Amino acid sequence: MDIRIALAGNPNSGKTTLFNALTGSNQYVGNWPGVTVEKKEGRLRQREGVTVTDLPGIYSLSPYTLEEVVARNYLVNERPDAILNIVDGTNLERNLYLTTQLVELGIPVVVAINMMDIVSRSGDQLNTEDLARQLGCRVMEISALKTTGILEAADAAVEAAQGAKAVPMHTFSGPVEHALAHIEEAVVHGLPEEQQRWYAIKVFERDEKVLEQLQIPPETLAHIESDIEAAERELDDDAESIITNERYVYIGQVIQSCYHKKNAGRMSPSDRIDQVVTSRWLGLPIFALIMFAVYWIAMVAVGAPATDWANNGLFGKGYHLFGNGAAQYEAAVERYGDTDVIIRAFSEAYGVALDPADPEGSLTALLAAVPDDASLTYLTQDEETLATEEHPGTGREDLTEAVSLYLSTEAGFKGERGAPDPAAYGTWVPGIPVLVGQGLDSIRTAPWLRGLILDGIVAGVGAVLGFVPQMLVLFFLLAFLEACGYMSRIAFVLDRLFRRFGLSGKSFIPMLIGVGCGVPGIMASRTIENERDRRMTIMTTTFIPCGAKVPMISMIAGAIFGGSPWVSTSAYFIGMASIILSGLMLKKTRRFAGTASPFVMELPPYHWPPMRNVLHTMWERGWSFIKKAGTVILLCTMAVWFLSRFGFTDTGFRMLAEEELHRSILAAVGGAVAWLFIPLGFGTWQAAVATLTGLVAKENIVSTLGTLCGGTGAYAGLAAAFTPLSAYAFLVFNLLCAPCAAAMGAIRREMNSAGWTWFAIGYQCVFAYGVALMIRQFGLLFTGQAEIPGLIAALAVLVIMVFMLFFKKSGGADKPGARA
Ligand code: GDP
Ligand code: MG
Repeated sequence: MDIRIALAGNPNSGKTTLFNALTGSNQYVGNWPGVTVEKKEGRLRQREGVTVTDLPGIYSLSPYTLEEVVARNYLVNERPDAILNIVDGTNLERNLYLTTQLVELGIPVVVAINMMDIVSRSGDQLNTEDLARQLGCRVMEISALKTTGILEAADAAVEAAQGAKAVPMHTFSGPVEHALAHIEEAVVHGLPEEQQRWYAIKVFERDEKVLEQLQIPPETLAHIESDIEAAERELDDDAESIITNERYVYIGQVIQSCYHKKNAGRMSPSDRIDQVVTSRWLGLPIFALIMFAVYWIAMVAVGAPATDWANNGLFGKGYHLFGNGAAQYEAAVERYGDTDVIIRAFSEAYGVALDPADPEGSLTALLAAVPDDASLTYLTQDEETLATEEHPGTGREDLTEAVSLYLSTEAGFKGERGAPDPAAYGTWVPGIPVLVGQGLDSIRTAPWLRGLILDGIVAGVGAVLGFVPQMLVLFFLLAFLEACGYMSRIAFVLDRLFRRFGLSGKSFIPMLIGVGCGVPGIMASRTIENERDRRMTIMTTTFIPCGAKVPMISMIAGAIFGGSPWVSTSAYFIGMASIILSGLMLKKTRRFAGTASPFVMELPPYHWPPMRNVLHTMWERGWSFIKKAGTVILLCTMAVWFLSRFGFTDTGFRMLAEEELHRSILAAVGGAVAWLFIPLGFGTWQAAVATLTGLVAKENIVSTLGTLCGGTGAYAGLAAAFTPLSAYAFLVFNLLCAPCAAAMGAIRREMNSAGWTWFAIGYQCVFAYGVALMIRQFGLLFTGQAEIPGLIAALAVLVIMVFMLFFKKSGGADKPGARA
């Protein structure tokens, strides 16, 4: 039979460090069923048949936070064979509070006093024998970081698991013990003897969950209630506080006798750093600087090139191995310039057709047809934003040069005729889609299968892997900040501010990262300990305009607002305001209700973390993204590929050519839902389809609208299709509504619950709709064109928001005792 050992302790006491040191790579990481709390299990490396579980960090066994409930349910219901209680030796008082509760569970407990390296360095002395005697269980000294004493501690736990139960040595004051004796006799005598004390104390505290579980008959309950009230009268406090206070008094005495401080009151180096880092004036600037550095390294310096390479190179046309040849190719492309566009413009203007089979002949004919004083304007288009640029006054010399560039096979310039060929430079490696495509062609695959494999599966895998490089860099930096102790300071510096909006100080990091990309932003919410804060952050992070939404914003600014910079500034402002408003409103709903967990600030001493641990954390998070989010992304890409490439036509249901998007199932769906957007001012199937393809990747909005609103003259087409007001409403809706498939996958991964994922996505869509509705309807009112039904709806949204923000009491107050 396996021996099961649970690691229990306060947050930041070193559980995970110890867990990793004991289990190495023999671990399984998942989640506790249905919640966002991470569950880790592993097998002891040095001993056969021992399973170790890393419980969430908790301060007590009360049922106030999700972490407490998860840890407590595991201990009470699964009853591991032994508890290895990690105690932060530099913080004995607060850590032993949990210990006094653990020893009452009737499960063998071994206390491992961690951080002994710091304790010894400070010169303080701990008498472990005395402590063991007073607590009634074995006490070991360890340093999880330096791995000293950890094997002995694990062995002690294994031994304890096979031996006698812990005997709680602590007794409460007379009146409490009197009531406890009655409770034990009246309600818990049916339980196994070693568990009776814990249950009795919980009944005394009127612990809801335990009372529910025990199903005490009403008359017995009334009887013990009178005992509890008697104790409360005598000690002049409520039952729960009596127990808490007596535990602290007891711990105070224990520490007094076992722990001898060398220099009481002197500051450690860590405290001195904190004086600067968390100070009123320098705290925020230092924080901003560090965060900027993280953002810059992860998203700009390493993330962007690596992601570009993954998207355009490995999963695109191809790439130059180690950049060999890339610079020469770029130079050639620059020299080649707009050659193709210029030739085409002249060929159209002078009606000379170009024959691809005979480029020399047809180009000579073109040159002959163009008079010396010819001058025309050609257009080029920006790939990302579809902005068109005019090049007036292009004359015959430009054409002559273009023709010679086109025909040139000059050494070192390009391969054959036409545009430079990247393969002609350095070491060119074709991208995976190219290779797979060639493979499929050589075995004559049916077009639909080729499309499914290339545009569905390979593109989907590419989309997942494209995120991985920046994600790993980001996770590495965050894991480092976490492990060296700075992350807790961030929470400390920002918490007071963010708390007001119902968010945690650590929510700032996901939001900042979300400016680059929502996916790592959502994944970064993992560093937030509290479940409610974490969920709130996951739900609101994607309101920030991410990199992929920027082209859409620029397109609308360019096509409708004459390129005004205010459009994108306002988009960031709306994103931030949405986060704050959502925080304030959601805080008052039942789902986020409940008493705020008592906020205990953790400031572990600074130290240089072992790289192995940092890399381990990085890899664990990156891998879980690939696995969980990857599935969602892949499925979405495949679904949208199918919907947009198949449709019913005159010749029946068939696969469509690329230009036939308007015949696709997706277009039909767009047409069917377009009415929904009429109140927002963009109730056209084109806008609806663009919104739908935006759910795969927000960049798609630009290309879809471009295709559907009129080819090269995209901006003119857009200007005809939208009014400024409806265009802005469209922008806001697409900014705030459900994010792309990858981000939805990340939400699914982090929420670890289908219900919460749908709730998050639903909330985002409804919120986006409400805001866009208000913008459009109040805008119309302002310009004197009010639509009465729409205006009434917009006013209703406004009233609901104002009510939620200013008048509604928090969800907990509606229904006393309700906890989401
Ligand atoms: P958990 O929240 O209980 O899982 O704690 P972690 O294992 O994440 O550790 C919290 C912090 O304490 C990390 O920065 C660890 O590197 C650090 N730490 C853990 N054990 C020791 C130790 O024995 N000595 C020192 N100096 N630091 C430690
Ligand atoms: Mg941990």
